[in-house]
Amino acid sequence: MNGKVHGAAGMALSSFVLTIHPQNPVVTTAAIIGSAFLAILSDVDHAGSSISQLPGFNLVSRILSLILKHRGFTHSLAAVVLLFIILKQNDFKPILIWIWVGAFFSHIFLDLFNEQGVQLLWPLPYKIALLPGMISVSSQPYSLVQTVLFQTFFWLSAIFSIHTFMTISLGYSQLKFAGEFWFQYVAPYIPII
Ligand SMILES: [Zn+2]
Repeated sequence: MNGKVHGAAGMALSSFVLTIHPQNPVVTTAAIIGSAFLAILSDVDHAGSSISQLPGFNLVSRILSLILKHRGFTHSLAAVVLLFIILKQNDFKPILIWIWVGAFFSHIFLDLFNEQGVQLLWPLPYKIALLPGMISVSSQPYSLVQTVLFQTFFWLSAIFSIHTFMTISLGYSQLKFAGEFWFQYVAPYIPII
């Protein structure tokens, strides 16, 4: 699956959690932007991936792609635990840790539907794929399933993010109007869509 799908899925997941547990603007922004980054981080083991195009990641990605197998360690439960430990040691807010780890895991989960699967139980060598080859999601850049997935995650994350920021705006007198407008005239119609 391509980086756009993963990034949008990470943002949809984090912004959804924030609609249930609203946070202050700083935590909200950190949660959403951090999720977009962490949701594409696993593919740092592949030199042509979206994350390898980010400034500073090109060289890292090239080196790691020589050492690591694609969809190996960085797509494993061991990596999820490692990330959790690193974040925990840095004393981030628990909600941020769970959102970020969730976004990172969402990448691995989605890749389970890829044709080659992922080495979920690294260091065990087996690759796990949930769908048989014929109906699995192709990792080719232009596949219809990926386009549909991207559009779905993108619009969900847009709606959830606006909802989250409108909830925050209710707490600020200057922005209260925007929040009230959203909750009176837009939010009630979201479930219909
Ligand atoms: Zn991947």
